[in-house]
Amino acid sequence: CGIFAYLNYQVPRTRKEIFETLVKGLQRLEYRGYDSAGVAVDGPKKTGDDNNQNTICLIKKTGKVKALDEELCKKDLLDLDEKLFTHFGIAHTRWATHGEPSEVNSHPHRSDKGNEFVVIHNGIITNYKELKAYLINKGYEFESETDTEVIPKLIKYVYDNRENDDIGFSTLVERVIQQLEGAFALVFKSRHFPREAVCTRRGSPLLIGVRSEYELSTEDIHIQYNNALFKDGVQENNSHNRADCSSDIDSVGDGRAVEYYFASDASAIIEHTNKVLYLEDDDMAVVSEGKLSIHRLKRKVNENPVRAIQTLQ
Ligand code: GLU
Repeated sequence: CGIFAYLNYQVPRTRKEIFETLVKGLQRLEYRGYDSAGVAVDGPKKTGDDNNQNTICLIKKTGKVKALDEELCKKDLLDLDEKLFTHFGIAHTRWATHGEPSEVNSHPHRSDKGNEFVVIHNGIITNYKELKAYLINKGYEFESETDTEVIPKLIKYVYDNRENDDIGFSTLVERVIQQLEGAFALVFKSRHFPREAVCTRRGSPLLIGVRSEYELSTEDIHIQYNNALFKDGVQENNSHNRADCSSDIDSVGDGRAVEYYFASDASAIIEHTNKVLYLEDDDMAVVSEGKLSIHRLKRKVNENPVRAIQTLQ
């Protein structure tokens, strides 16, 4: 029942420091209750002819975050002293709603044995049975009893059936969440989009902390609206077209060293930074090349036009 993720851009951190940040983040969320915990981080690069040499390493444990921490400290797992200048790691504590507490049911969940896409989720996907039946019918294999697992399988399905190779990570995620019913906060990581983060929420909380050497001002970020207008919950104008409007996205970062913290609750972020941005329902946040942008996927008439970065007191 807790999400924590951490992206360092042009800020050298050892794996040990990255693990410590992820574990500490989870520990701050322990009060929310949980039965298992897990992380996904970049693994060592593969050598050989494979075009995609990035790997993702999944580590999960039932029980306390401490058990996960002990696992992560094992010397033979990954080189703890290795310095990573830019890295994105995701971490989760689970409160089982569908499927018993077990290693295979704990998060992050994966698209396939090659860990092409991995996802952490808080909430419940109410239409997971239909989605699961559809995907099984298409040949996708499931390993857990959870509702969550349809999400990584669905993004792989969308990726496998993409119309062109330039498709962006956020476009894939957007197509996935169009199919989801229920409540969710989600963070996605992918081997195909290394060092990129995509997260979104509907009905479950999610916020982003930003830490940077330079002074952030409230003008540093604006929310990008898609064209679709919603009036009394009814979509008025369906000319939803990302390409038309993405050119005027303002973003944080811009090539400068920056760190991002994604969490269910400010208590996990406050020790790192007091600059935070609360996502609203159907906001999608994307970090690419160190830059954060927010896409608001649904717009309600008369809502606040722009929500900037806030300073927590
Ligand atoms: N429904 C998901 C599961 O049972 C997520 C639970 C949670 O929010 O921790 O795995």
